[in-house]
Amino acid sequence: MNVIGKLPFVIATRLSQQIRNMSLVRSLAFVNNQWVPASSGETFEVTNPANGQVLGQVPDMDVDDTEQAVNVAFEAFKTWEHTTAKERSVLLRKWYNLLEDNKDEIARIMTAESGKPLSEAAGEVAYANGFIDWFSEEARRIPGEIVASPTQTKEMMMIRRPIGVAALITPWNFPAAMITRKAGAALAAGCTCVIKPAEDTPLTALAMADLAAKAGIPKGVINVVTCSRKKAAEVGRVLCTSPQVAGLSFTGSTNVGKLLYEQCASTVKRVSLELGGNAPYIVFESADLEAAVKGTIACKFRNCGQTCVSANRLFIQESIFDQFVAKLEEAVKGLKVGDGAAAGVTQGPLINDAQATKVKQLVEDAVKKGAKVHLGGKPVSEMGTRFFQPTIISDVDHSMRVFNEEIFGPVAVCIP
Ligand code: NAP
Repeated sequence: MNVIGKLPFVIATRLSQQIRNMSLVRSLAFVNNQWVPASSGETFEVTNPANGQVLGQVPDMDVDDTEQAVNVAFEAFKTWEHTTAKERSVLLRKWYNLLEDNKDEIARIMTAESGKPLSEAAGEVAYANGFIDWFSEEARRIPGEIVASPTQTKEMMMIRRPIGVAALITPWNFPAAMITRKAGAALAAGCTCVIKPAEDTPLTALAMADLAAKAGIPKGVINVVTCSRKKAAEVGRVLCTSPQVAGLSFTGSTNVGKLLYEQCASTVKRVSLELGGNAPYIVFESADLEAAVKGTIACKFRNCGQTCVSANRLFIQESIFDQFVAKLEEAVKGLKVGDGAAAGVTQGPLINDAQATKVKQLVEDAVKKGAKVHLGGKPVSEMGTRFFQPTIISDVDHSMRVFNEEIFGPVAVCIP
């Protein structure tokens, strides 16, 4: 493993330079096309997980602020729902063009606040913008249906109508794509939205909202309510229980998803949940091992293992187990850990201290119960606790947490 970016001073200098060049970094929330503080005046810090440097402060909004944003989106819906499919399509296309024009800067903001290596951030921005591209076209194609009637005196028609205000709650691991995927669909259909980004990554969301306003998307159609983790539950409760919100789209952990599902029941909202997983990855002896190892690197170590589709358990046919693990070790040794903004880095930091502690404890639990560490297994000591060594372990059984829980870290669990 190559460890780069060992000098905190050098990293800090480079990042402050990076921040100075960011014209889309905002320090206020976005409601009714206005940049607004929290009514309490409270803020929280957004930090770079690579070095703890404070990137900026954003409003720590509460129940009142969220109700205000919902009201605004509810009022905006009254006119937005009557726009033509063509009008919405044209506006989404303009937003897409601006997102594309600013893709490099959005990627740099994302790397600074999420730690994701710059090349991966650029990849996510392309993916994220693709949703707006797609929905700008789909906006024009919202067909209805004439249904065969059971009587001669009635004609039956099915038409699709926007449902109203959509609440969008998104995670930090895809700070752009989880927003455009939801907001693109909502806007194309004629819904307005209130977005609550994750505490760790509000700056990407605000940058995209800025470009939406510049694209001419009318006031109140997109709103971004920022809040700290300690206020997430109260803000979420407003979004889930307000009778003015018609639907919730949430991507995040299974536990929070269950809670929101329950809260949405009181107003019988439309709910769309994308939750966590415990993804298996299976390699048979007939596989092309080079390709299987390459695939493992992509789906285990991308975003430092912090994606919902990251392989959690690698099941390798016994006859090729040793060979596969040896090849995987070689490939993992080629990964570079460091500040995601530095050239060549493939493994950034874990997003926050809680996540870093969880990954460390999962590995410790496995080792205590008899797992064998082939590579890594610890934080990179000279880089602070958030950088975790790309790790391979085996001799894992059902009693270990790594077998049963979503790891969300760079730990490949190999099981014959
Ligand atoms: P999380 O804790 O559930 O957070 C996701 C979002 O929910 C964040 O905006 C968070 O705000 C907010 N939130 C937390 N508690 C809340 C509450 N009580 N009420 C309302 N909102 C609340 O998930 P995470 O740990 O950030 O994300 C990782 C999880 O997401 C993993 O399990 C992963 O598999 C899953 N994920 C799934 C997909 C998919 O496509 N299926 C994609 C990406 C991620 P704060 O940030 O302020 O806590």
